[in-house]
Amino acid sequence: MSYQVLARKWRPRAFRELVGQEHVVTALTNALTRGRLHHAYLLTGTRGVGKTTLARILAKSLNCERGVTADPCGECGACRDIDAGRFVDLLELDAASNTGVENMREILDNARYAPTVGRYKVYLIDEVHMLSKGAFNSMLKTLEEPPEHVKFVLATTDPQKIPVTVLSRCLQFNLTPLPRAQIAQRLAHILDAEAIAHDASALPLIAAAAQGSLRDALSLLDQAIAYGGGEVRETSVRAMLGVVDRAYLHRIVDALLAGDGPALMAEADALVAAGHAASSALDELASLFHRVAVVQAVPGTLVGEDAEHVAGYAARMSREAVQLAYQICVQGRADLALAPDEATGFTMALLRLLAFEPSSEDAETGPARTTRSNVTVATNPASPATRSAPPSAVAPPSEPRLALPAVPDDWPAFVAQLRLTGMAAQLAAQSELKSVKGAAVSLAIPASQKHLADKAYADKLKSALEAATGRKLLLAFEIGDAGEGSLAAHERRKRAQAKAENEAAFRSEPFVRDLVAKLDATVRAETIEPVSRDASTTPSTRQEAP
Ligand SMILES: [Zn+2]
Repeated sequence: MSYQVLARKWRPRAFRELVGQEHVVTALTNALTRGRLHHAYLLTGTRGVGKTTLARILAKSLNCERGVTADPCGECGACRDIDAGRFVDLLELDAASNTGVENMREILDNARYAPTVGRYKVYLIDEVHMLSKGAFNSMLKTLEEPPEHVKFVLATTDPQKIPVTVLSRCLQFNLTPLPRAQIAQRLAHILDAEAIAHDASALPLIAAAAQGSLRDALSLLDQAIAYGGGEVRETSVRAMLGVVDRAYLHRIVDALLAGDGPALMAEADALVAAGHAASSALDELASLFHRVAVVQAVPGTLVGEDAEHVAGYAARMSREAVQLAYQICVQGRADLALAPDEATGFTMALLRLLAFEPSSEDAETGPARTTRSNVTVATNPASPATRSAPPSAVAPPSEPRLALPAVPDDWPAFVAQLRLTGMAAQLAAQSELKSVKGAAVSLAIPASQKHLADKAYADKLKSALEAATGRKLLLAFEIGDAGEGSLAAHERRKRAQAKAENEAAFRSEPFVRDLVAKLDATVRAETIEPVSRDASTTPSTRQEAP
């Protein structure tokens, strides 16, 4: 037995078998059951969404030998002939090849005569927008005074090109592209019925490539079965479609978020070496950032195999960063044609993602970034510099992020802003910044406090740092000596200084001076305390600091 292509074999033969287009099916079913059928329907929508399938089912509904019904039997002569495409009263015309007015006039003249075998003559005119002006006029005459036994089903991908006079005489239905999930579900159903082994994860890939067309999805499925030697496996489908393995994408985004240039370039090289097309990789990246944006806007809409990754990125990236990343990928894809070669174009797009990654922006502008960048944008909205990278220059106002200090001196002030609690706060306060190299943060802790460098506390501090900076970090500790660069040491010095100032102020009081000078009194410095410790030591000094 010869192999019948799936699209043909699985073409729906009844309204209930139809995938999607529920609004059209409901309207037609109601019209059929109530005997209130319009004489001309215009079905619009992209290719492969079911226009001709619907028209054929409608033809069967009208001509089924068991009576006009929304549920044609599929067994009588008329039903079988329509399914086989040989029913004389179903006139399927492709306007793309019958545009001549003579041809149309001849066919439409024929409409006056009663149907040969059926109850109704059904004219299915596909790609009707391709008709010539004369042919439209010829059709208009029939549409104005349609004989009782004639129904028109006009289908088009481009309703804009149809004359208003024709449009106004048709009941119009817009057929929508099918959602990926619905296509994937249909593919699974067919594969199960055909007893073809398959990976469930392969089907969304095919559904995505079909772009809303079930017919295209079935053709791709046919190809995939042939390509996979009778099975539909994710790896072979990826290879067939040139779809990039998601693991690559996740590693790329991880490297981006970590600000890790070398890792990013290594992943880019590996991806190109694996033979993936740069265009497809950028498409997939854009699609990934799209999913991240959707999850940020509508939490809980996670679907698909990489839902966990997407959720992670949604939490770690600002909305602006996601928008920008998407833009860079789409633009990068368009720029591929202009690049010296694909790999170069691809790498440049990734480097652009890295360059405009908001957290690396943070590192340059420092802790005062939020205010500074707002000022930049407000006072200088049209400057070329701001315009070239606006989203990255605008700090996300809703979730102010901190930048890792570039120099050890800024570490205490940074730690003070972290709002840590418990042991993680102790650990942060006692540690000194040694270096920041990409994602690697190296801290030193005095030997006297080394009990704080416990893994549990270190992990808490790491999470806090990541949350504050929006970056993935690697934290390393070394046990060192004094630790003068820690927040604790900083506070100690401040307290000592405040105390010295207090003491000096106390000693310079006229009353105290008199006591010392005239009564040979001594001041016990350790007993000098400000009236309100909290108000006059650290907080006030802090407030005065720039
Ligand atoms: Zn029938």
